[in-house]
Amino acid sequence: MRILVTGGLGFIGSHLVRRLLNEPDIQVDNLDALTYAGNLANLADLADHPRYTWHRASITDAAAVEAIFAKAKPDAVMHLAAESHVDRSIENGMPFVETNVVGTEVLLEAARRHQVRRFLHVSTDEVYGSLGPDGYFREDTPLQPRSPYSASKAASDMLALAQYHTYGQDVVVTRCSNNYGPYQFPEKLIPLWITNGLEGKPWPIYGDGLNVRDWIYVEDHVEGLWLALTRGKAGQVYNLGTRNEQSNREVAQALLALMGLPPETVVPVKDRLGHDRRYAIDPGYAEKELGFTPRVSWEEGLRRTVDWYRTHTEWWQAVKSGDYLTYYRRHYAQL
Ligand code: NAD
Repeated sequence: MRILVTGGLGFIGSHLVRRLLNEPDIQVDNLDALTYAGNLANLADLADHPRYTWHRASITDAAAVEAIFAKAKPDAVMHLAAESHVDRSIENGMPFVETNVVGTEVLLEAARRHQVRRFLHVSTDEVYGSLGPDGYFREDTPLQPRSPYSASKAASDMLALAQYHTYGQDVVVTRCSNNYGPYQFPEKLIPLWITNGLEGKPWPIYGDGLNVRDWIYVEDHVEGLWLALTRGKAGQVYNLGTRNEQSNREVAQALLALMGLPPETVVPVKDRLGHDRRYAIDPGYAEKELGFTPRVSWEEGLRRTVDWYRTHTEWWQAVKSGDYLTYYRRHYAQL
């Protein structure tokens, strides 16, 4: 089977490429523009793998995408390429519309033209909006995205499902909760705090720190994507999560304890605009229909993640330079 992965040089995409190459007969073509969030170091050890090819192009470039589909002749597409950081979308939503909305439509149309057998569209629980203290996101929860990022992802989910309803194209959508683990770009909460901790810097926490997210170890998400690809039904949406709700304060406490740092490390900063209060996934449908069974506990996942950043200083020091520093200083000017 030939699988075209998009965004394979990013955080989740690079774990997915590794997982796919563990299967004996899968050829992986990775379409990735190598934006600031992509990193060749994430797959450096696999760069010469005989069943792996990287194609550098933007998913918004219809001619380039057409040429890659003609060459790679994929049986399936697993679409992860995206602008993925909410805070950046609040600064400028346009790249999010271009990549997440236009780019997704370009891929869907190419997949239809080339009669790709299955298109897995990878999305997020953020499309459902914000929950109060009770309740869970289910697949039939109405979409109420509230940030430019989540709005662009919701639009792309709708475009993907529209292909199924309009043309009978085989499309499956997954919506996952917050991921953490090795190779995550340190603008996201957990690697930001771990690497700041290793550098002796403070941990910015938004507002009262009581925003709740449902955290999943990245390898469990990737396993869910594989199950959705191989066992999912066309036209269906599958929510992926682990019933692991943690407030940002609780995340901080767990990480401070693991890293042996004092509570003063955590410094409140002005809240994110329109900050969603609580996300919580009901993964029951994926568990029942796909046999989705996350394996890595929160404690184990955090321990593995801290260990990885401790032992991969070169990886994150290279990332936390240049443009990243400009962004960090602008965004956390109060620190
Ligand atoms: P990431 O930001 O780490 O990686 C994105 C990758 O896409 C990078 O390699 C980048 O170079 C590539 N890319 C960006 N724009 C592109 C373009 N125009 N053309 C080609 N490649 C482009 O993202 P991630 O955290 O790994 O997320 C991957 C996917 O999973 C996204 O679709 C995201 O919405 C979804 N998701 C993420 C999370 C999470 O917690 N990180 C949770 C649920 C869903």
